[in-house]
Amino acid sequence: MPMNDLFAPLTDAELKEIRQRQAEIEPAVRAIHAYWLVARMPTASQSATCIRPEPKVVRNDRCPCGSGKRHKKCCGVR
Ligand SMILES: [Zn+2]
Repeated sequence: MPMNDLFAPLTDAELKEIRQRQAEIEPAVRAIHAYWLVARMPTASQSATCIRPEPKVVRNDRCPCGSGKRHKKCCGVR
């Protein structure tokens, strides 16, 4: 394709195709958003045990989650 074609005005057929693609993409984007919205919510079992604290915690200090255990034995367990 010659470079000049990039700057030529779109034909009616091209405009129609672009609008059609946009109409197809929108519901797909919404579906993807809805999927990840649910996927990134913590499940009941995760939130019940321990909420992960700030990343920078001294591992021998008490865990900031309030469990009373040392961080490395609580939320710091890998
Ligand atoms: Zn903890």
